[in-house]
Amino acid sequence: MATQTLSATSTSTSTATDGGDVKLRAGATAASLPAPAPPRPGTARDSASASASASSFPGHAYTLTPTEASLRSRRKWGYLRAIYDNTKLMSLTPHLVTISLTLAFNASPLAPPFYRWLNTHSRFTILVVHNYLINAAVQTACVALFTYSDLARRPSWVSRYKIQPHKSVTPAQYRKILGVVVWNMLVVNTLASLSFFPLAQWRGNPTSFETLPSPPRLLRDWAICLLATEVGFYAVHRALHHPRLYRHVHKLHHEFTAPCAAAATYAHWIEHYLSNLLPVFLGLVISRAHFSVMVLFFSGLLIGTHAHHSGYNIPFLGNALPHDWHHYATVENFGPTGLLDALLGTDKTFRSWLREVDATFNGDRVRANTAALETLARFDGDSDQGERQGEGESESESE
Ligand SMILES: [Zn+2]
Ligand SMILES: [Zn+2]
Repeated sequence: MATQTLSATSTSTSTATDGGDVKLRAGATAASLPAPAPPRPGTARDSASASASASSFPGHAYTLTPTEASLRSRRKWGYLRAIYDNTKLMSLTPHLVTISLTLAFNASPLAPPFYRWLNTHSRFTILVVHNYLINAAVQTACVALFTYSDLARRPSWVSRYKIQPHKSVTPAQYRKILGVVVWNMLVVNTLASLSFFPLAQWRGNPTSFETLPSPPRLLRDWAICLLATEVGFYAVHRALHHPRLYRHVHKLHHEFTAPCAAAATYAHWIEHYLSNLLPVFLGLVISRAHFSVMVLFFSGLLIGTHAHHSGYNIPFLGNALPHDWHHYATVENFGPTGLLDALLGTDKTFRSWLREVDATFNGDRVRANTAALETLARFDGDSDQGERQGEGESESESE
């Protein structure tokens, strides 16, 4: 999946007859047409249309891997533009909530006794142990909630926001993911926290009630941390897509072409340290952030990251579409907020696709989503037929 290529050719010639995939990668382009009866898998008509569309991608043409082509020909995937527009400021919702809660807590009568109790501990305990435990608790809660939702398919309304609804992670795959994630959390996070402490001591990151930042100062420190995270993650992530680094380091994280929340930190330990942890700690050192800013920034980042990586574009939980696309296409959308991708032009294909979806449905995303779901429903019928006939490999083989 690392070497897909783009060409300038393009066409949106898919029709509703070439299957559920119709658009879904194609943004449901053809799904707006009246739905003809789907061809039976294996028929000449089916094979011909699959062959014609195997390498096309609305707006662009990808050279598909053999596995992708095989899946596409059997209509085994779709790419669903979720109904909700989580773009722009909405992608920062988790951060905005944690900032608001922190400001409210710091201004409440609870703050003085809490920070006095906190500072009965050593600075090492506060900046390393407490910070680590809070982060581990937030991450564990995020992984547990999304994993339960994924495996139990509850609550049922969540499924409507699944971006690649035909791809799911099996319990066995979850066990594999959690092995890496727990290792990174226990070992790499601990080492990163320990290496942060001397820098925090040097900078004198405050922890007391008396040194609580004013709201403008809190927002400034948060913005510095966000910028450091954006620059650091983008730079490391883009570098890791160099073929040599990709093969040895980043390929692990791209094992799943449809991401899930638990796999947000399913990564080589070097990648986890350099792209997920180091930029954040550097932001905290540069801004000389108060302990309360450390907690609010890490919490907002962890919630946002797991939501972005969940495979669900859930309203008010951030915009999951760009990173989902990154896993799907293995190109573009390297940064966490999209700022540098927009500035450096590493989101052109993605934006082109979004424009095409909007143009096809005159900007009516509800209609686009409905059409996509209708196509998927037809696809489900075909898929069941194909499976009964024992055709082909399992879906999980491709992920
Ligand atoms: Zn990547
Ligand atoms: Zn990812």
